[in-house]
Amino acid sequence: MRIGVLGAGQLGRMLALAGYPLAKTFVFYDMSGSPSAGLGEVIIDRDGKYLDDFLSRVDRVTYEFEHLPVAVAEEIARTKPVHPQPRALQVCQNREAEKTLFSNLGIPTPQWRMADSAASLQAAAEALGCPVVAKSNTEGYDGKGQAVLRTPQDAASAWESIGHERLMVEKFVDFTREVSLIAVRGEDGEVAFYPMAENVHHDGILRYSIAPAPELSPALEEKADGYIRTLLNELDYVGVLALELFETADGLVANEMAPRVHNSGHWTMEGAMTSQFENHIRAIAGHPLGNTAARGLSCMVNIIGEHGDIDRILELPYTHVHLYGKGERPGRKLGHVNVLADSHEELKWRVRNVSQFLPGSPELDCSLTR
Ligand code: AMP
Repeated sequence: MRIGVLGAGQLGRMLALAGYPLAKTFVFYDMSGSPSAGLGEVIIDRDGKYLDDFLSRVDRVTYEFEHLPVAVAEEIARTKPVHPQPRALQVCQNREAEKTLFSNLGIPTPQWRMADSAASLQAAAEALGCPVVAKSNTEGYDGKGQAVLRTPQDAASAWESIGHERLMVEKFVDFTREVSLIAVRGEDGEVAFYPMAENVHHDGILRYSIAPAPELSPALEEKADGYIRTLLNELDYVGVLALELFETADGLVANEMAPRVHNSGHWTMEGAMTSQFENHIRAIAGHPLGNTAARGLSCMVNIIGEHGDIDRILELPYTHVHLYGKGERPGRKLGHVNVLADSHEELKWRVRNVSQFLPGSPELDCSLTR
């Protein structure tokens, strides 16, 4: 089976790495950018001329990023099966649509309002009570297009700095930690859930994911599984879906979802019986889903901006290094290191041993170290 991937970055590359053992081949299609997939033919179509050519070379289509015009996904869906279906893409591109869907399905969210001027941003901040986070309604990722308002008087400068015509304004959630859930749904409606991960961000970028999230109550995990199951069923979703949540004293609050394999699921490559990438391929190709159980305790460490001393990390007997073949640039995701251990204490020390060879890596500050 020939799989077409919309987008040609590292997620596409890791999908292909997981798909070749199942005898899938890959063609990547992107409308801009510098591809790093490197494991199949890449079509860069700046003028939108080669879509038919791409479609003639593939049997099924999926995507590895969600900033693709929905119209393109819909056009493709008229010719070839597209998983997940374009509606999922549409919802994830628009925070208002996403939070509205969450609420309609009974999934808790931060309190929010929309703003379309500096004055309405100030009014929203007053109504919700500061601090609030203002986010561009569309085109936001990795904390970009966001500002925190400490007082309603910050509205003018926040409006200016974000520079978007429509913002979502959210009450700042007093969370104890950030967690995420990755689940996969097959063509036949079967659903499988990975253990949830605890995520550590720094400057808006994911740095560490620890899985299974330490000391997560089974009741909370069950709740989260229920939330993602309703989303998967509502969207008649096929493939991997990621849901990012805040854990608070009063339970879980949903932040956002991603209609694709997710950075907080990279630990599954060695840390789970079946990786998120293989399960996405299995789902979209109509195969049975693989076992999502963890093999032990894992931590994924992102390599951001600079590669650091990779050989020293490779010398450590408990690391798995994944490099994306990308050039160094501040804030850029260049690869990740998966660390496995038998105890939390051991995991903590192993992660510290890895981080010392990654310049700019923040201290591991998570539930394991507090
Ligand atoms: P997002 O782009 O929505 O995922 O936001 C990026 C990061 O900003 C999140 O991972 C959180 O660390 C933080 N953040 C976003 N929304 C809120 C909120 N309502 N309350 C507190 N922190 C937030």
